[in-house]
Amino acid sequence: EATAVCEPEQVILQTIKKVNVLHPAFIMERDLRELSGVRLAISVEHLEQILLILLDNAVKYSRERKRIAVQATVQKERVCLAIKDAGIGIPAKDLPFVTDRLYRVDKARNRKSGSAEGNGLGLSIAKRLVERYNGALSIESIEQEGTTVNVFLPIRAGVQ
Ligand code: ATP
Repeated sequence: EATAVCEPEQVILQTIKKVNVLHPAFIMERDLRELSGVRLAISVEHLEQILLILLDNAVKYSRERKRIAVQATVQKERVCLAIKDAGIGIPAKDLPFVTDRLYRVDKARNRKSGSAEGNGLGLSIAKRLVERYNGALSIESIEQEGTTVNVFLPIRAGVQ
């Protein structure tokens, strides 16, 4: 994994577009300006997989405020990708556990309609993948206001 490399800007834009095609009612904002010329030490496939999980959650756990933002900030040796929604949020008591395998907050919170029902695997997979590339995943959330998932990934050193 250590040698994987990707140019994140296009990957992120395309993944956002994919999700937006499936969920056209959502307004997807993005600010990826800081990413121009930046390369990350992660494979294209895994970056896309992580983003799909997080964007899918943002969609699933939004209600009437269908606005999602993806923001990239370049820090010293890493990039922070923030995926923000204005959805139902996560109760403080559940927050430490949502990245555990199979942990789900409350079945009743989930949309009843068919395939949107989850298994409690998404976040644990996303976290494991990020950590495989020496990154980190953290979540901030306020109930009834929204959730921000921060994905930290190391910048690929060397010639940009
Ligand atoms: P899946 O395995 O399909 O992703 P899931 O959404 O239930 O199913 P996780 O992605 O692991 O599983 O999420 C765990 C729990 O954390 C969810 O059941 C949900 O309650 C909560 N959660 C995750 N993302 C959000 C979010 N953006 N807003 C509010 N709650 C969230």
